Amino acid sequence: MVGKGDLEKVRDCVYEIPSSARKDMRVPARIYLDEESIKTLEDGAIEQVANVACLEGIQKRSIGLPDIHFGYGFSIGGVAAFSEINGVVSPGGVGFDINCGVRLLKTNLTKQDIQPHLKDLVNELFNKVPSGLGSNGIKHLKESEIDDVLENGAKWAVENGFGWEEDLKFLEENGCMEGADASLVSTKAKRRGIPQLGSLGSGNHFLEIQSIGDIYDEEIAKAYGLEKDQVVVLIHTGSRGCGYQICADNLREMDKTAKRLKLNLPDRQLACAPIDSDEGQNYLKAMAAGANYAWTNRQMIQHWVRESFENILKQDAESLGLNVLYDVAHNIIKKEQHKIGKINRNMYVHRKGATRAFGPGRKEIPQEYRSVGQPVLIPGTMGTSSYILAGTETAMDETFGSTAHGAGRVLSRSGAKREFTPEEISKDLADKGIILKANSQPVIAEEAPNAYKDVDSVVKTADKTGISKLVAQMKPLGVIKG
Ligand code: 5GP
Ligand code: MN
Ligand code: MN
Repeated sequence: MVGKGDLEKVRDCVYEIPSSARKDMRVPARIYLDEESIKTLEDGAIEQVANVACLEGIQKRSIGLPDIHFGYGFSIGGVAAFSEINGVVSPGGVGFDINCGVRLLKTNLTKQDIQPHLKDLVNELFNKVPSGLGSNGIKHLKESEIDDVLENGAKWAVENGFGWEEDLKFLEENGCMEGADASLVSTKAKRRGIPQLGSLGSGNHFLEIQSIGDIYDEEIAKAYGLEKDQVVVLIHTGSRGCGYQICADNLREMDKTAKRLKLNLPDRQLACAPIDSDEGQNYLKAMAAGANYAWTNRQMIQHWVRESFENILKQDAESLGLNVLYDVAHNIIKKEQHKIGKINRNMYVHRKGATRAFGPGRKEIPQEYRSVGQPVLIPGTMGTSSYILAGTETAMDETFGSTAHGAGRVLSRSGAKREFTPEEISKDLADKGIILKANSQPVIAEEAPNAYKDVDSVVKTADKTGISKLVAQMKPLGVIKG
């Protein structure tokens, strides 16, 4: 058992448990966190970072980001990269919501322009975008169509009338991950996915109208096409029941694999399989299919956002400037090249509650942003700011090009319901002039801003340690909670 007591300071806000702390650790466990947050972080989350450091083929270090908290096997706010030669893949290192992620849409409206229409717009969005627990989408797929979605992702959506061809340029992987194989997705997962495609889901998932607040880096903000008071829309959702089922199916398989191969795992929830095994390959191909489902989902929701703006503002989406800034995946495995010493190597980077933060020059970044680094989207809560950051060279050197993905929970859902009432949270938001539409009253309490860590301190740590660079603040105007 390792915990806070084993952390050694590397530099300001960077701590490490050396691999010598436990005989099964192959690499150090590193955490990016401010001193205050370390005091309140549960030892269990630190131990999870150390547990991951024990897995076969892990490269350089196991990483906990400034929004780290306890998760299934791997902590949330965690990154681990495994060598393509002798490494493993683990579904717990991605999480149940495969390719949960965030997309930001820009507009050419200001806060002042939108204010008179805000209430109508929130109502329209609430009516047009299906949301809530177990919510179903509008378009009912034929059973034969789901394979197309799973293999082609957002491209399928665009071909079927949801959005514009140029949107694809601003999605990681252009919204379609290579290697996806629908035949490796169970019938159960497909059946869960069919009715839910094009729906927000519940709880932590949201659709938010925001305006740009402070700008911290004028040059990068300009490259991203952002300015003060500009209205933007943030969409947060993932692969719904389809991704969940893919994860569950593969965890069950890998639990068997781990036993068969007698893998010595410090925690059963770290069930994994060698990358080059059938089980490993099957998971990667099914995970890619789940990721494609999620990009399709966000693409469809975005389409209805455009339609809602058109209906209320009586202008077309093109002239409203409803263009995608970027879409980031924060629960995914990607095959990427990173430097170990002086040599570039292929590795499978697991990001669980972690955002890719590629710095300037990487070919994966759209040309438009390549000179400044990719946009990083870090939501806060429905009552606080959210942030746009940029990827950095430091992230490439230290965290396999990764940074935080949110504020991170400090209270469980049930804990939050004990602490807060939906009425008081709704009133707090109303007092701040934020319009909230939620599908369920309990969700309002579960998602209370104080159930999350202070996002300002998370992004400050990310910026200060250099693993991403603060660009702009976003402030909520209207929120739709699933
Ligand atoms: P996760 O993917 O871990 O569920 O959520 C990512 C992050 O989204 C959370 O850590 C939290 O900071 C943020 N978040 C959750 N609900 C809301 C919301 O309603 N609005 C905004 N802006 N952020 C939220
Ligand atoms: Mn999710
Ligand atoms: Mn998420």
